[in-house]
Amino acid sequence: MQNDDWNGAARDRRSKIANGVSACSDVWATRARLTTLGQGDSFPRMDTELTPEQEMLKKSVRDFADGVIRPRAHELDEKGEFPRAIVKQMAELGLMGVAIPERWGGAGLDALSYVLAMEEISRGCASCGVIMSVNNSLYCDPILKFGTDAQREKWLTPYARGEKLGCYALSEPGSGSDAAAMKTVAKRSGNEWILNGTKNFITNAAEANACVLYAMTTMGVGHKGISGFIVPMDAPGVRIGKVEKKLGIKASSTCSIVLEDARISGDGLIGKEGEGFKVAMATLDGGRIGIAAQALGIARAALEEALQYAGEREAFGGPLNQLQAIQFMLADCATELDAARLLTWRAAWLKDRGVRHSQESAMAKLYASEASSRIANRALQIHGGYGYVKDYAAERHWRDARITEIYEGTSEIQRLVIARGVLKG
Ligand SMILES: Cc1cc2nc3c(=O)[nH]c(=O)nc-3n(C[C@H](O)[C@H](O)[C@H](O)COP(=O)(O)OP(=O)(O)OC[C@H]3O[C@@H](n4cnc5c(N)ncnc54)[C@H](O)[C@@H]3O)c2cc1C
Repeated sequence: MQNDDWNGAARDRRSKIANGVSACSDVWATRARLTTLGQGDSFPRMDTELTPEQEMLKKSVRDFADGVIRPRAHELDEKGEFPRAIVKQMAELGLMGVAIPERWGGAGLDALSYVLAMEEISRGCASCGVIMSVNNSLYCDPILKFGTDAQREKWLTPYARGEKLGCYALSEPGSGSDAAAMKTVAKRSGNEWILNGTKNFITNAAEANACVLYAMTTMGVGHKGISGFIVPMDAPGVRIGKVEKKLGIKASSTCSIVLEDARISGDGLIGKEGEGFKVAMATLDGGRIGIAAQALGIARAALEEALQYAGEREAFGGPLNQLQAIQFMLADCATELDAARLLTWRAAWLKDRGVRHSQESAMAKLYASEASSRIANRALQIHGGYGYVKDYAAERHWRDARITEIYEGTSEIQRLVIARGVLKG
């Protein structure tokens, strides 16, 4: 009965997403075939034609972003204000658990749909994009994949519905890329776990109700000593520490989480003891696809604004867009954006088919994030002096794009993952 209610609510949200949208098509309805290095002819062929449901989702999320998010993006960035009202509306549209099954409160769509929605939301506001991505990929996904039904009921359903917000805590002040060097410890005490340590740079932490958090349960065995936990943010001994002041994505919050003899219930472990590193890395394989999509959204916003500006601004007797130097910049932006999107769609497509996609996610994240920075940089350049001041959004896109090269694994870490796959053949 309860499940039927959830399914009904999720269907309702999905129909809201699709509401009023007629069949639409765009350049992305082009068929293409992509293969993956080393996987040869037996590898399934990717078809990039979107389903009618995906087309509808894309169009309606774009309309929502244009109508509600984009007009507020500048103000949110200026104030560094967490966009509560927008997050609530995103939840009503089913965007806080896009690829989570309806049974667990999600919209029941696929990873490619999630990518489409992430691009549109991030085109409107990169901060809203990361808030959505952390809840979807980093919090909900590991509980869906590795949690028990009891954990899913309590810790997934309200979060996938967007009634509550989740965060993900792997990084620490002394360990980011080298996650296995973490110092946070968790010890069993009767029917509880006691946690001590500090988690650093945690997106959504200040607003979150719960956190998927990693700690050492066995010392001296490297990553095999790490376990994953669901930590309620109001558990005794849990508090928010330093609130970061950032270059970009200013409307999302980034804080440390301090654990001082923090007590959580004995059933807070996700998966088995000692398997936390596996949970964290599998989560990042999916999360990186979301960040690649965030990078696409930022890049598209930057390119669209550069195109508009280049058509309006005059120099040497005509619009900027008649100057070949400007046209070449626009051509490079459009080409890199398309290449980044194809890589991102491929990674999502593999995830949807249950095919291992660590390397492809890393490629998508690496290329899309670096392309996004290059595109935002060119877009700023096309705006000339106006690109450097706050009258136009070009400088915000340039600042926002930069983080996609850092979080959920820096570009150097993505190259390590890709190289490992390439060398393996
Ligand atoms: C705004 C923001 C939001 C974030 N949100 C979250 C979050 O929600 N949850 C979370 O857990 N973390 C989060 N992070 C942390 C983020 O994932 C880390 O900052 C990132 O993984 C890099 O770790 P680090 O900062 O410790 O850098 P380090 O690991 O110290 O790296 C420093 C430099 O060395 C390079 N480097 C390190 N190791 C190697 C290597 N083996 N080979 C080559 N180069 C290497 C890196 O690429 C980088 O250039 C966030 C960070 C920021 C800034």
